[in-house]
Parts: sequence; structure tokens; C-alpha cells
Amino acid sequence: MELDYDYIICGGGIAGLLLASKFSSDSYYNNKSILILDPDFPKVKNDRTLCFWDKKKSDWDSFLTSSWENVIFKNGFEEKSLDLNPLNYKMLSSISFYKYTNSIIKKNTNIQVLNERVLNFKDYKSHCLVETNKKKYTSSKVFNSILDWNSIKNDQKFPLLIQHFEGWVIKTKNNFFDPKKATFMDFTIDQNSTTQFMYILPFSKTEALVEYTLFSKKLLDDYKYKSAIENYLSESGIDDFEIKSKESGQIPMTCFPFFEANTKNILNIGSAGGWSKPSTGYTFKNIDKNTSKIIRYVKSNDSFKKFMKKNRFWFYDLIFLDVLFDKNYLGKNLFTNMFKKNDPKTIFKFLDNKSSFYEELKIMLSFPKTIFLFAVIKRLIKGI
Ligand SMILES: Cc1cc2nc3c(=O)[nH]c(=O)nc-3n(C[C@H](O)[C@H](O)[C@H](O)COP(=O)(O)OP(=O)(O)OC[C@H]3O[C@@H](n4cnc5c(N)ncnc54)[C@H](O)[C@@H]3O)c2cc1C
Repeated sequence: MELDYDYIICGGGIAGLLLASKFSSDSYYNNKSILILDPDFPKVKNDRTLCFWDKKKSDWDSFLTSSWENVIFKNGFEEKSLDLNPLNYKMLSSISFYKYTNSIIKKNTNIQVLNERVLNFKDYKSHCLVETNKKKYTSSKVFNSILDWNSIKNDQKFPLLIQHFEGWVIKTKNNFFDPKKATFMDFTIDQNSTTQFMYILPFSKTEALVEYTLFSKKLLDDYKYKSAIENYLSESGIDDFEIKSKESGQIPMTCFPFFEANTKNILNIGSAGGWSKPSTGYTFKNIDKNTSKIIRYVKSNDSFKKFMKKNRFWFYDLIFLDVLFDKNYLGKNLFTNMFKKNDPKTIFKFLDNKSSFYEELKIMLSFPKTIFLFAVIKRLIKGI
């Protein structure tokens, strides 16, 4: 059978675009025909702020809006300044990312982008078939980054929390911020029996992204995000400010095994592939790492079924989410214990799934033991 394309990428967002640009920087793929399907292309809005921690000098440095050596954790009783050395907390605006990846894609005649909505796709073993609102296409491999929220919402085995937020980039009249310190989590706001905090990324003394973030089961009415930010700014003494831009979003926090839907020739990528860290929602570094892995992996022609599997970090995240799902009011307490009792370097290593078992044990012992032990037993009975 004559295939239309070698590879089809469903969804040209962060994962799809990064994968396509990595295909084009490896000569092995120069003669492969690649199709990206996304009704929303090219993306021209700065629709998300992508933050991550990394070594002081690392990829993406030339595209960053800002970076910080220290981050602050606050809970109302104390304020902890976390020295991230040898890491920095980095901020990449999505518009810089889109411009960069689009410029690469445009130069490569073997990559085509069509503004079509994917309706479904299937692996027929000899080829894959992708159906859009306009046409049908075949390919040897499909990379899917379209997240199906319904499948994770309806799943009974793995709890789903939503990381939902609204953020405003504001400019204040007077100097207010310390551009050297980002506020990672400010839990001084009323918790209302959920896990919620403010996240502040200052770019100068007068400019910052102020984001109201919740890890909870349900979204809020729109006006509640707005009033939470207004109250916070007012209580912080910021009354005179201008809103430069806004962002909002939802990130799935779940251990749902997305990768079990991978087939020999279809790989789920990005948030749709389970690449959002379940306990934190951080995704960008996983996208960067896993898209590089794909570039190597495809050459081996191995089945995508083996691309990802469960590991002990998946289990830790599962127990953490089980606890936070059942006792959503505990978030402030859990994060306080983690940041109070552990070295920030170890915490970020742990969150990067790179810690040793001894380090993990130390972090786990900083959480309320009875609650977590009970959660482990409950989970083992329920199944993993
Ligand atoms: C506002 C916001 C801020 C974030 N900040 C951070 C952060 O600071 N750090 C971090 O690590 N992560 C962050 N994330 C999480 C994560 O990094 C992003 O969600 C990232 O965009 C995930 O990439 P993706 O490719 O999986 O999804 P997306 O980038 O959302 O791409 C999916 C693409 O699929 C397309 N699509 C949807 N349906 C169809 C269809 N039927 N047919 C064809 N195309 C379709 C969409 O148009 C979209 O382009 C943030 C997310 C949001 C929303």
C-alpha cells in the first residue's frame, strides 16, 4: 500500500511542534514525509508560560523571558527562600517557542501542516489511518497529542485532579517586586478546603506574572479566579496596576496510564501521552526529553508499546494524588512539610524522577506517616 505520509502528528501544540522540529534537525528524517494536523496553526498568541528548572546553562537559554536562582515558598507562618543552585528556574513564553519551531518547520519542505481537525485514528498494523473533518490519510506512524479529557474524567481507578489557574501579567506604578526571586507557592491565601496558592514570577521591580492556581477536582466560575487575584493584590498593597496580558489553563494531574493506549505504530505524546508530571503538572521538560527519545527510538523500529512504562515515581505520584484527592484540604500542609524538611536540590531531583531511593525515603518520611501508610494499603487493595 502506498502511504500518504511516513509520519502524522495529530495536534501541533508544544509536543507536536517540538517533535516535528527535532525530526527536521536529524538527517535520518530528511527524506521522510511528515504531516501535522491542527486547526489552530500557526499559533500567534502567547497562550502559555512554560516554566521549568534546569542547569544554569542549558538548552532554551537564548529564548527565555527570565530565570531565577532563588524561589520562595510561603505558608502564612514562615517564608522560605530556596537556593536552587546548581539549578535555575526558567521561563519560556510560548510565543517564543512557537516562533522558533514554526521557523524550522517552514524551512523543511518534507513537513506539511494542514488546518484540519482529527476525528479519529487507528493502527491497522500494516499502516495507520487518520480521519479528519476533511479527509483520510495513511501513514506508517502516528504521534497523537490530542488529550481526551473524557477518558480520564470517567476513569474509576485513577483519581483525577485538575491543575487550573488564571494568571495576569501586571505592571505596577511603584516598585514592588524583587526580580531575583520568584514565588513558587504562596499558600497564605484562604484554602477553602482545597489546595490553592499564588505563583508569582517577577520580571522587573514593576512587572510580574501573578497566577492563582488550584489542584482540585472541579473548576471554578470565571469570576472567582479574577476576584482571588484582585484580593491577593490588594492585600499585598498593590492597588495601582495595569493588566498587560492574561493566561489561563488546565493541566491533568493523574496517574492514568495513557501509555497503555500506545500501539505498535501509534504513540501518544505530550499531556495526551501522560507526560505531565501527575503530582505537579510540570510537562515541558518531559516533552523536551521524550521527543529526543522518539528521534532515537523510531530508528530502531521497535513497537511504541514499549516506549513508556510504570516506574516507582509513578507509584509515588499515585499515592500522593490518592491522598490529595481524598483530602484536598491537606495540600498546604503536605507541600509545607516537603519544603520545610528537605533540601531544595533533593526535592527538585525527586520531582525530576532522578533521586536515589534513600533520598526518596527521606522525602516520604516528611509526610504524615499514618495517612500515607493507609493510602498505600488502600491503593494496593484497589489495584495499580
Ligand atoms: C496556560 C498553561 C501554562 C502552562 N505552564 C506550564 C509550565 O510553566 N511548565 C510546564 O512544564 N508545563 C506547563 N503547562 C503544561 C504543558 O506544558 C502545556 O499544556 C503544553 O502545551 C502541553 O503540550 P501538548 O503538546 O501536550 O498540548 P498542547 O500544547 O495543548 O497541544 C495540543 C494541540 O492539539 C490541537 N488539537 C486539539 N484538538 C485537536 C483535534 N481534534 N485535531 C487536531 N488538533 C487538535 C490543539 O490545537 C493544540 O495545538 C502549561 C499549560 C497551560 C495550558
